[in-house]
Amino acid sequence: MADDLLFQFLRDHDAECSVCGYELRGLTTRVCPECGAEIELGVRATDPRLRIWIAGLITVSLPMGFFVIFLAFIGIALLVGVGAPPIGECWPMIAGVVVGAASIALLLVFRRRFRMLAKHTRFAIVGILNLAMVGLVSYQAWLIM
Ligand SMILES: [Zn+2]
Repeated sequence: MADDLLFQFLRDHDAECSVCGYELRGLTTRVCPECGAEIELGVRATDPRLRIWIAGLITVSLPMGFFVIFLAFIGIALLVGVGAPPIGECWPMIAGVVVGAASIALLLVFRRRFRMLAKHTRFAIVGILNLAMVGLVSYQAWLIM
């Protein structure tokens, strides 16, 4: 039955092998002739809701990583006794690490609940996180210049 549906679908539709990209239209076996992967007909969501969640993790962790590296350099400079910027000029970096760590923790803990939110809500949350982190990076750069 499943094979009948697979072959019936491939008789009339273009479909690529998900492993090698080989065009499977007209296929009459359950195996990709190019790479040997087993082929099956499946059902999946049109909106893989993890995309926005992953974008949220990247948008937060990338600037946070830069902040952590710069703060480590400043810490080393303070230990060695060479010139380091005063702590008052570093607060956006510290805030970025705190906001970033909290955001990553919340995204990881509430991943399932985040995925259930409406698309525009998920975009809004990631957009706000992005604006916050870009704002902190920009303000930090402006303080140091
Ligand atoms: Zn293949």
